[in-house]
Amino acid sequence: MKQVRVRFAPSPTGYLHIGGLRTALYNYLFARHNNGKFILRIEDTDRTRFVEGAIESLIESLHWAGIEYDEGVFIEDGKIVQKGEYGSYIQSERLDIYKKYVDELIEKGYAYYCFCSKERLDKVREEQKIKGLIPKYDGFCRSLSLEEARERIANGEEYVVRLKLPHNKDIKFHDLVRGDIIINTDDIDDQVLLKSDGYPTYHMAVVVDDHLMDITHIVRGEEWLASTPKHVYLYQVFGWEEPTYVHLPTVLNKERKKLSKRHGDVAVEDFREKGYLPEGLVNYLALVGWSPKDNKEIFSMEELIEEFSFERVSKTGGIFDKDKLDWVNGHHIREYDIDKLTDLSIPYLKDAGYIDDKFVKEKYSWIKAMVQTVMESISYLSEIPEKVEVLFDNKVELEDEDALNTLRGEQVPDILNAFKEELNEIEEIDEEFAKGIMKRIQKSTGVKGKNLYMPTRIALTGNNHGPELVNIIYLLGKQNILNRIDYVQENYLKD
Ligand code: GLU
Repeated sequence: MKQVRVRFAPSPTGYLHIGGLRTALYNYLFARHNNGKFILRIEDTDRTRFVEGAIESLIESLHWAGIEYDEGVFIEDGKIVQKGEYGSYIQSERLDIYKKYVDELIEKGYAYYCFCSKERLDKVREEQKIKGLIPKYDGFCRSLSLEEARERIANGEEYVVRLKLPHNKDIKFHDLVRGDIIINTDDIDDQVLLKSDGYPTYHMAVVVDDHLMDITHIVRGEEWLASTPKHVYLYQVFGWEEPTYVHLPTVLNKERKKLSKRHGDVAVEDFREKGYLPEGLVNYLALVGWSPKDNKEIFSMEELIEEFSFERVSKTGGIFDKDKLDWVNGHHIREYDIDKLTDLSIPYLKDAGYIDDKFVKEKYSWIKAMVQTVMESISYLSEIPEKVEVLFDNKVELEDEDALNTLRGEQVPDILNAFKEELNEIEEIDEEFAKGIMKRIQKSTGVKGKNLYMPTRIALTGNNHGPELVNIIYLLGKQNILNRIDYVQENYLKD
């Protein structure tokens, strides 16, 4: 069998969309599963949509997600470089190649020059719309002779080159997800292949490049399905071997609409900034449109590579469910290496103003202990500051009336005094002390269970709920706890 070669071919028009990341991921999984090659090609022939910095940012997003490729466009030392024997992998650097193939099509009568002005095309479209027809080019320039066309070009007239589709011919192809597809050429436009600015359109460039780069499987979003017959026809007239097509279902929101910026986060960058782990995002995205054999939900990249196949990609759109993403990501957080997780969490704590570089240097292990405590209850890292807020403010603010009532309990002064006495015995709280103190207070005061734990928790944090009390005691340390008890005694206890 031929070596599998697949490509992800984004246009540098902005950020990497979450749907684009999934397309890249499926290409990557398929390539790795089959010991094939994965290529990153940049499709930048639409100069009007080019965005400065977009190539760099999408490469960065792929890299962050752990989606590595073998050939194409890379960033090294902050610069764009290319690797591989099929370059250039940037379409705007391949204009001569496309021109050569466009000329070949014209010579063989499969394409023609078109001189129609924008005004004329608009008018034709308007008329078709009024008649209820699907707008398409009316073939006005199809019958111009080559000599005449060349003369007009020599005279400086602007032109494009269009594909000359035969009338009433069925174009057939097979898609691994959608099955056999037949579309009649009468329903397809004479697509522009070369634009007046000398750049090819996507349709021309994609076919030439996929052929020259020996791409075996074209894996892309289903929005390209309608264009595929044009591509298939080009393969046929060039006499090239056709690749296998795989059109992936669109990533939809819960209302079954296309995920769009207006309805929340769609850029990979957004999820990264919120503190989703690449492992979590990739795991969840793999499940949006693909289902593993046995309903398993938590996967490492290795396991995905092992299990992934196009046979289990669904035809219908994949629903992007943020709650499910949170659940999957939370899972990965809890399995993460604690040192790595601490390092990833530090920027969020710094941004919130709770710690600075000096703090990190002096109290790294304390931060680690704190992260270890909160990782049990978060879905993504930007939730951390809110969860640990109570550790940084010794003014105990009570959450509600209930909290105040609890502190007004009869035995509370005894509990707090016992707490203070215990603390006065030691230099600093260590883990063992933290684990044992509540038992000892229970003994000395005779108060136990909820009556002991609730007021203690509220006195230390102001809240009815939160991380394990042992962890809070350990993380707060002696002085903070003494300050808080003083504060509570002064402000909330009955006189
Ligand atoms: N450049 C196209 C895009 O931005 C790629 C389509 C394809 O993979 O053929 O989606």
